[in-house]
Order: sequence, then C-alpha cells, then structure tokens
Amino acid sequence: TPALAAPAVKTTCPYCGVGCGVLATPDGQGGVGIAGDPEHPANFGRLCSKGSALGETVDLQDRLLKPMVDGQAASWEGALGAVAGGLKRIAERHGPDSIAFYLSGQLLTEDYYVANKLAKGFLGTPHVDTNSRLCMSSAVAAHRRAFGSDTVPGCYEDLDEADVIVLVGSNAAWCHPILFRRMIDARSKRGTRIVTVDPRRTQTGEEADLHLGIDPGTDTALFSGLLVHLANAGKLDVRFIEEHTAGFEGAIERARQIAPSAAATAQATGLAEADVQAFFDLFAKTQKVVTGFSQGVNQSAQGTDKGNAIINCHLATGRIGRPGMGPLSLTGQPNAMGGREVGGLANMLAAHMHFAPEEVDRVRRFWKAPNIITGEGMKAVALFEAIERGKIKALWVMGTNPLVSMPRADRIREAIAGLDLYVVSEAIATSDSARARAKKTVLLPALAWGEKDGTVTNSERRISRQRAFLKAPGEARADWAIMGDVARRLGFGDAFSYRTAAEIFREHAALSTFENDGTRDFDIGGLAEITDRAYDAHPPAQWPLPKRETKGRARLFTDGRFFTFDRRARFVAVQPPALAQAASAARPLVLNTGRVRDHWHTMTRTGKSQRLSGHRAVPFVEVHPDDAARFGLKDGGFARVTTEAGHATVEVTVTDGVRPGSVFVPMHWSDMTASDGRAAALARGVPDPVSGQPELKATPAAIEPI
Ligand code: SF4
Repeated sequence: TPALAAPAVKTTCPYCGVGCGVLATPDGQGGVGIAGDPEHPANFGRLCSKGSALGETVDLQDRLLKPMVDGQAASWEGALGAVAGGLKRIAERHGPDSIAFYLSGQLLTEDYYVANKLAKGFLGTPHVDTNSRLCMSSAVAAHRRAFGSDTVPGCYEDLDEADVIVLVGSNAAWCHPILFRRMIDARSKRGTRIVTVDPRRTQTGEEADLHLGIDPGTDTALFSGLLVHLANAGKLDVRFIEEHTAGFEGAIERARQIAPSAAATAQATGLAEADVQAFFDLFAKTQKVVTGFSQGVNQSAQGTDKGNAIINCHLATGRIGRPGMGPLSLTGQPNAMGGREVGGLANMLAAHMHFAPEEVDRVRRFWKAPNIITGEGMKAVALFEAIERGKIKALWVMGTNPLVSMPRADRIREAIAGLDLYVVSEAIATSDSARARAKKTVLLPALAWGEKDGTVTNSERRISRQRAFLKAPGEARADWAIMGDVARRLGFGDAFSYRTAAEIFREHAALSTFENDGTRDFDIGGLAEITDRAYDAHPPAQWPLPKRETKGRARLFTDGRFFTFDRRARFVAVQPPALAQAASAARPLVLNTGRVRDHWHTMTRTGKSQRLSGHRAVPFVEVHPDDAARFGLKDGGFARVTTEAGHATVEVTVTDGVRPGSVFVPMHWSDMTASDGRAAALARGVPDPVSGQPELKATPAAIEPI
C-alpha cells in the first residue's frame, strides 16, 4: 500500500524510555526520512543508532496484514466473532477470571487504557499484566513504598545540573544513549563525576570516573553501607528526616547490620575498600547527586529492596525534589510509564489507583462498569504459571513476544498449546509468539509505529505524541479500535464507542482528575477537555497537569510532602543481599542478561536494519578469560549455555568486562532470528516478593564448547 506523501511529522521514537522526539518525513513511496526533533526536550535533535535507523524498519516484510484464525486468513468479522464468542463462552463456563491479558510497554497509552477498561471493568478479570513487569515493576514498588505513589520525583534536567551521577545496574551508554550523552555533556560543562555500579564493565563503566564492579546481587549492601557512612560522617539532613519522613531508625539499624563500615561493605560486595571509600566520600560531600537505576536493579528477586536502599540515601540527605538531585528510575520501554498511568500492571487500577474500596468504587462509577474487579490479578510469572496449570483458559497478548522475553519460555510455549483461546494482536506475522498455537488461535493485525496515533510517557513523566505518517497497511487496525469491536460484540458497546484516540485520551485524563483532591499523584485534568485539534498539536509535557495548569511540573516533592496518608516519605529496612539461586558444581556460573547497543527487545523491528544487525550479528556469550581457560572456550568459537530452564547456542566473546564466575548473554535473539539463542528462556525468573519482577540477572548456568 503506498504511503501518504506528507511534510515532516513530529513523533516519538518507539524504542527506549528516553522518549526522543523524531521528525519523520514520508517519501510517498512507503519510506520515510528520519531526523531528531530539535524542539523535543528529551533529545533536542539527537538520535542514537536505533532511532536514526527507524527509516530502515518500516517496510512491510513479515507484516501481519490480515486476521488469521487457526492459521487461515479470515475476515475481520470472522476473527472478531471468534474472539468475542470465545471470551463469552469461557467466561460463562469457567468464570471471567479464567481470562488473562498480557500487554506491553510498546502499546500507546490509549490502547493500554482501553485494554484495562475492557478487562478490569467489563469482562471482570483482574489478570491483566504487562511486559513492564519484566522491566521496571520493582522501581514502581520501591516508589510506592517510599513515596506512597509511583512517582518519578525528578527529570532529565537534573542530569544537566548534577555534580555526581551514580548509575546503578544501567548500561546507559547503550540502553539510554541520548540521556547518557547529556551526562557526558554535563561532565564537559561542569565537571560532573560519573560513577557506575554494575558487575559488568560495560561501555558506560568504561566512560565512568569510577566503576564499582560489585558481586552480582549485592547492591543493597553497597547502599546500606552508604547510609551508615552518611550517618557516621554527619551528612544526614536531620531536619528533612524529622519533618518529612518516617522509619529512619529501622532503616539505619538494618543498614548497620548489613554493612556497618566501608570495610564490611567491601567484603559484602567484592569491591576494594578504597573504591568503596572513594564512592562514599564523593556521595557524602556532594549535594547535587542523581542516582539513576535501571534493569540491573529492577530485574532481581530483591529488586524492590535495591530500589529502596538507593532511595533511603536520598531521603536521608534530603536530596529529592530539588534541581540536580534525586533518585531517577531509567525506564526501559517507550511507554512503560503510560502503562502504569492506565493501570496496566496487575496490582493497579487506572490512573495510579489501587484497590482500596473507595478507589474501586470511584473507578466503577466513572466507567459505569458492570463487572469491576475488587483486587489484584496475577503478575506475569504467576500468570503464565496459571496458564500451565490450566487455570487460565484464554489469553490475549498485545504487542509483545513472551515466547522470547519471558523466563522459562519453553514451558510457556507448551502452556499456550493448552489454552482454549489464544489471541495475539501483532504487527509481525512471524514473531515467535504469533507462530505459537493453542486450541483456537486468532491473530489480529495491529498498526505499528508510524501508522498508529496516540501518546506515550517517558522516564521523566513527559507525555509526547506518537503520530501516524504512514497509511495503515493491509487490514491492520488500531488496537483500541479492535478492542472496541470486541467489546460491542460482548454487549459493552456504549462504553467503547470511541471514534478517535483523542476521545480515549480525554476520558483517561478525566479519570485522573475525577474526585482527585490532590492526594493522587497522577492528575492530568488540565487535558480532560482538550480538543481534537489541540490533541493533534499537543507538545511534549510533564505530568502532573491538573486543571488550570498548562505547563506541567519538572519535579515533585518540592515541598517535602509525599503521597502517603501523613504526607511523609518512608524509609525501608531492606533485606541483606542474597541471590535467589546459588551457583553449584553442576552450574558454576552466574548468567546475566541484557541489551546490546543496536537492537531492541526481540528484534522484530531492529532486525530489519542491516546497519543495526552489523553491530553484533549473532547471539553471543561474554566470558572472562579465566573461565574461558577453565571451560576450554575460544574467542569466536561457539558454546552451549545450559541452565535448569533451557539452553542456548552462542558465539564466545572472551572479555575481562565480565567478572570471573559470571557470563552475559544478550536478550534479543529468538527462534525467529537464531536457531537457539534465547537468553530470557534460560532464566527460571524467581520473582521479587514485593514487585513480582523476575530475576533475569543471576541464573546458575553451565557452559561448554561445541
Ligand atoms: Fe530512541 Fe532511546 Fe535512542 Fe532516543 S535514546 S533515539 S528514544 S532508542
């Protein structure tokens, strides 16, 4: 289908949570020229390798262009009838909670909103979770424990103004590249010092002023030791602690048990004491410190405690809500934040509300929902286990590829085969998850980036528009429109009669401000009556944006008031570090997983670009020279990595960037792109007890040459 010729369209990059503005200029032949948007406050015109190659990824090869039912092309009428009929039958026979949705941080906020409303308000199933569970749900839980709300306190400008930036579990140079360039700029302009905390010495660590290559999983010891040091050195902000927080005594007592001194911290983390002391001194003497944390913190069976150990140090020094300082969760996906805002996680309702009876009732009345849920649903790991047990009979997957990205993915493939109904809303016909089959399988062709229209929220709470500049290919449709049609067939038509994404956004904004007396953080009531034209033209803006505010707020907690019932932040007494699964004689290595510079998630888009694929062409394992010698591995040779969950065949890269005893395999490759290269499938994925986020950074593994 030919594309529409048009001038440059302002849109947003579909990859990482930096949320860069993009200028897309369609060539009228289906292609598009790409440039950074100089006016977007996330990137000011810059793009990284992935963003600049977006024009190479918009072809229609491998696109799902027609609905499919059980492998046969079908009409929309037939496919929607199969979905609605199947859901109705299953709900009647097994109850609505036998239906589950698995959503994605790639979805636009409007799609995400409609999915949650349909499931949680009308079908009446609480089992709605998202791949954001694998990304930043530990940060969400840490925010909620500390602040009473899932609020990112600061913004990217804080990185420009910081004197010290600590990056924990973050290879920002590759995974948030444009933000990392801002940090390097800050170093050039004001001498900002950069500290990295990561078992791997990544590109980010190479560029840091101080790299702390801690033992896997020991972050809570490092930040407990720091809290003790701040107290011992007289660097606490006693007034802030007394006036604006609670729980300090319990937190410091626990910290003293975990890491009472720099020497004890060094012992617990595997670091040199001099490096620990240097970090402690730098943090203590510098007021403007931002601590950015990402998947190395979140993707852990102790991820929530790790986040709170970091936040404790900022609360103890009053370094929050002020320019150039604060904890900053670096979100992985383009719209993980938007998903949080609409309640995409199983433990949330819409608009950052949860399950207090008055909140449930408020959402019920607003939606006029006949079947509002009253409690949390199952989080991703538990949800897929429930599919294995046969408790879930119908699964609707939207915009994600769990057969590559979920831990224990081989078991999930078997589990899906047993479903009565498996619905996949997808742009790519050949993804591993689109190729899986259940007793009844329905594939629904969805619009992709460049074709769909809506909003996303980046890591600094900035809502930006993703705009369509290509014509919808084949029979592909917007996810919200597809769900609206299913809802009508289920008899819920009045509540889903949306004609545009703008209508959905207005409703989402109205819910955020409905009976909101200022005690709920997420309020974009100022946009509740936005006109279609203003929505189309809406510039990037940070929430909250309550009624009568037009600019948005760069920082929250500027007055030291939080969203707990007493408006005080909470210190958390964290647990001592412990890996959920220890290495053993049979599996003597610790497997870490993560990203490479030039690929995104399961490569369904970036895999189309030869330029991007040239960076690393095949799946690989990084091995320390000592381990290469120990296991007979050669650089450039091939190896089999085996865990209790599965195996992968990967090329060997020998490097001292990983620690002895640790190996690293990137997450991107799938059965579609490599015959045996899936990394997440190797993990058992032990979930964090608070957030439910699975461990993907420390799985016992064996390795052998092949
Ligand atoms: Fe896209 Fe992230 Fe790169 Fe920006 S930094 S261009 S959002 S991938």
